[in-house]
Amino acid sequence: MKSPFHIMIIPTLGCPSKCHYCWSSDEKSPRMSIETVREIAAWLKDYRSDQVTITFHGGEPLLAGAEFYRQALPILSEELAHLAPTFALQSNLWLLTPEMAKIFAEYRIPIGSSIDGPEEINDSQRGKGYFKKTMRGYEIARANGLDVRFICTFTCHSVERKEEIFDFFLERGFPLKLHPALPSLRSDDPKEWALEPEVYGELLVYLLDKYLENLGRIEVMNINDICRGIFTRHGTVCTFADCMGNTLAIGPDGSIYPCYRFIGMPVYVMGNVSDRPTPDDLARSGAGRLMQAFKDYVDRECAGCAHIRYCRGGCPYNAIAPTGGEVRDVDPHCVAYKRIFDEITERLNEEMFGAGDEEMDGLCSPYGRREKPGIMAILQAMATRRD
Ligand code: SF4
Ligand code: SF4
Repeated sequence: MKSPFHIMIIPTLGCPSKCHYCWSSDEKSPRMSIETVREIAAWLKDYRSDQVTITFHGGEPLLAGAEFYRQALPILSEELAHLAPTFALQSNLWLLTPEMAKIFAEYRIPIGSSIDGPEEINDSQRGKGYFKKTMRGYEIARANGLDVRFICTFTCHSVERKEEIFDFFLERGFPLKLHPALPSLRSDDPKEWALEPEVYGELLVYLLDKYLENLGRIEVMNINDICRGIFTRHGTVCTFADCMGNTLAIGPDGSIYPCYRFIGMPVYVMGNVSDRPTPDDLARSGAGRLMQAFKDYVDRECAGCAHIRYCRGGCPYNAIAPTGGEVRDVDPHCVAYKRIFDEITERLNEEMFGAGDEEMDGLCSPYGRREKPGIMAILQAMATRRD
């Protein structure tokens, strides 16, 4: 099983795009120096002994430029060879050049990018011209053999056009990974773009059905992750696992945070790589204690929930950031998680043990088997692909 140890390197919080619902970029953000990359390697060398995944994230990490990656990747690969590092990149791809793509190809770096559906929908929420710029970068990435997957952010506006968005991903042969727009921490109207948890829950169920209708033609990554979690009784993505301590993010100046989402918020700084903090040092920091408090809260408050083992209260950032750093509740998307966990669990039980329920008759063949593919088919498809 893959190690959960995940380091996010944030070379800058700057970003050339101005997506309407994004509040986390910072134009004045500094850029990380190669000296800081050396400090990161020196710190990580003895920090933990398990395999590490290192993701370059932002802001927009390509703003760091080709030379940054030409130097940073060999430093991290060689200094941390004993941790068998694998790399990933999250980028809007606007600034990708063939020169950069070749560097990433050399290290077999998979890329996560962002497209919210057809051009008109995408640009209405990410900004005019976004789609074409990202697609230009996508073509460069593909021409250099790089694997690119897109995250699709659903807002309260785009969810009205979910069918068009699903069809866009289906027709292009793109796997679909969705992200719900969160309430802004900086806007006068925080919910202007946010997807309400109830709506998010219904969207997940809708996508489950669309996925099953089109099995073999598309993958809906969130549904895969949730099915896998329910089946193995263990969350396999950060939202549904205890991320605290396993995920850390490093800002441009070497400051360490619990996750990229907290970067730029001084109150969540846990330490600095130049001080070579140990896991215990970070756990004793204010942010470290807060993350532990969230874990304790989930153990207490979600104890009666059937899904606790593969949900773990959702994302601590979603829970903590809007309350100004107080642990008062679980992830507000609890409603959505419960909705899709319940739906998949019920369907899986029906498939494995039979419905025994007259109202299921219409869904069953004369032999009592469901005629349409079900959750087991998703699990089988995943096992075949071994993803
Ligand atoms: S804070 Fe949220 S997004 Fe960040 S690693 Fe934890 S679960 Fe993932
Ligand atoms: S679904 Fe809600 S109640 Fe259940 S574990 Fe997740 S956050 Fe807690």
